This record gives sequence, structure tokens and C-alpha cells, in this order.
Amino acid sequence: MPAEHHPLLEVENLKVYFPIRAGWLGRVHGHVKAVDGVSFTIHKGETLGLVGESGSGKTTTGRSILRAIPPTEGRVTFHVNGQAVDVTGLRGRELRNFRRHMQMIFQDPYSSLNPRMTVRDIIAEPLVANGMVRNKREVDERVRETAALCQLSLEHLRRFPHAFSGGQRQRIGIARALVANPEFIVCDETVSALDVSIQAEILNLLMDLQEQLGVTYLFIAHDLSVVAHISDRVAVMYLGQIVELAPTKSLFYTPKHPYTEALLSAIPEVDPDQTMRHIPLEGEIPNPANPPAGCRFHTRCPYVADICRSQVPAWQEVAPEHFVACHFAEELTLTGVGGPQNASA
Ligand code: SF4
Repeated sequence: MPAEHHPLLEVENLKVYFPIRAGWLGRVHGHVKAVDGVSFTIHKGETLGLVGESGSGKTTTGRSILRAIPPTEGRVTFHVNGQAVDVTGLRGRELRNFRRHMQMIFQDPYSSLNPRMTVRDIIAEPLVANGMVRNKREVDERVRETAALCQLSLEHLRRFPHAFSGGQRQRIGIARALVANPEFIVCDETVSALDVSIQAEILNLLMDLQEQLGVTYLFIAHDLSVVAHISDRVAVMYLGQIVELAPTKSLFYTPKHPYTEALLSAIPEVDPDQTMRHIPLEGEIPNPANPPAGCRFHTRCPYVADICRSQVPAWQEVAPEHFVACHFAEELTLTGVGGPQNASA
């Protein structure tokens, strides 16, 4: 992350509710609260990791920031060209024009590329859709430049997606996201479908591109070891809310939320001298249409006390830039990577 912190994106109290309809008339009987009051800031040139189990709301958060899913409530402010733009307030042509500033790299490199289009046309799509080029020569120039950045050759541009391996297809997806020169990219489980050796290649490519272009990432993943590799800070989501947010090292070595501790304990050990106690997460993530009262994690938390069942824990800063929502954040000695809170973070 750059030494100076300038906000690029501010998310305030973001909510995304999906109606539950039933009966002949399709009456609304309730709402699935996929994202329920999420707030955070992403600084220019940084990578914020967003982790949590499947169903925690992380993908919906990313898509809602990009306006691929309309938010129910809240505000997303994007700082671009010296101006603060309320993305949630954009409509029609304004929104279409603004999309070039924010792009997405999808999880599945197999299904996210149109098999009938050449790689050149796939990469060119955002330029054409956003009316950013005047003629074919400009398109070709920009596509070639971006392909080279992503280590794709001129020969690759003439081929169709089926001729490529998973890692190469993901390079095509990255080139398509970068071609319009966006300031912000949501990487949604971008390496999850790839072999481990290819994952490292793609992560290194994303980091190189960030260094060269200054692009900012929201990196969504369920695999914490992947997130640790690329993120400057990490936010942990549970049942539609952020429960902990901290600089990566601080979160991994000195977690302050029991859910983070449980997620960390599930990372496979690479160092046989550093064995970590596995903390099983009992049961399923509760129904987001009817989340538990008090602390939402109380039905699965090994440290639950009476207060947790009735009172929502406050969001508090327990160390510099380390925020958590747990009644016992100051009292509990949780186990991070390398043992119980014994590393200097
Ligand atoms: Fe566990 Fe209580 Fe903390 Fe929630 S508030 S994480 S239930 S100890």
C-alpha cells in the first residue's frame, strides 16, 4: 500500500436485501439480508481482502459496489479526478459512463469468456461498450498494449478462448478488466478455480500490475492463505456484516474475533513446528432471512456468554487500524498464525 492514504472508495452502511416472495400473487414475506450494514474505506493503490464462508455476503458486497446488484440502502462514494462521486446515485447513461472506472475479474475463467469471440474482441469489449475509442486502429493499439501487460502475445489475440489453459484464460479476463484503464477492480474469487501453481502466477501478475498502474483491488476469496499473499488489509465478513478489519499481518497474527480465529485455524499448516489448534465451526451459517439476535456469531461461537445473545457488540478499534465487533475482544487470548497472540504484528 502506498505510504500516503488517500481514500478511493468509501462504503457507508451498505445493505442489499432480496425479497422472499410466496403464493400466487408473489407477496413479499420477508427479506434475505445478504449484506446488512457494511462500511469500509479502500485507499488508492491498496488491496483490501474480503473473506468469509460461502453465504457471508462478500460477493454481493463486491457486485453491489459496482452496481451490478442495486443496493437497498447505503452509499458508495468514489473519489476520481479530484471529485467525490456518489455511485449509488448514478442512473442510466451516467452510470454506464462511470463503469469504466470500476471493473470486475470473475471467478470462472471458463464460463466468463464468450467462446464465439476472439481474444482480441473479448478484451476490446469494455472499450467499445463505453465508447472510449474512435476507430479500429485505436482499439487494436489499446488491446495490444493491455495484452502485453498481461503477458499475452499477438498470436494469442487471434485465437478463441477454448485454445487456452485456465491460467491463460484468467490472463484474458484480467486484460479485459484493465483495458479501459479503471482505477478500481473487484477480483471475485479470481484464483479459486485454478491449480495452486497457477494461482501464484496470477497473484504475482495482479501485484505487478498494481505496482505499474496503481490500480486498487477489492480481493474477494474464501481461502485465507491466498488473501494473505496479496492484501494490505483484510475484512472478515459473517452473515452480511464485517466482524473484523485490520492490516493483514495484525489480523493473521493477532486475531481479535473468534470467527477469524476459526477461519485461520482451518488454513493447512506449511511449517510442521507451528501446529495450530483446529477450531471447528459447528453447524451451518444461520439463515440470513432471520439472523440471530445480539452477536450474529453467537450460535457458533465457543466463547459465547449471556450478553452475546441479546446485545449487538460495538465496532471498536482495539489496536491501530484494527477494528472488531466482539464483546470480549480485549479479554480473549485468541490463537493466530504461529500460536496464541505471540507474534509481533
Ligand atoms: Fe463470540 Fe460473544 Fe464475541 Fe460474538 S460477542 S464473537 S458470541 S464472544
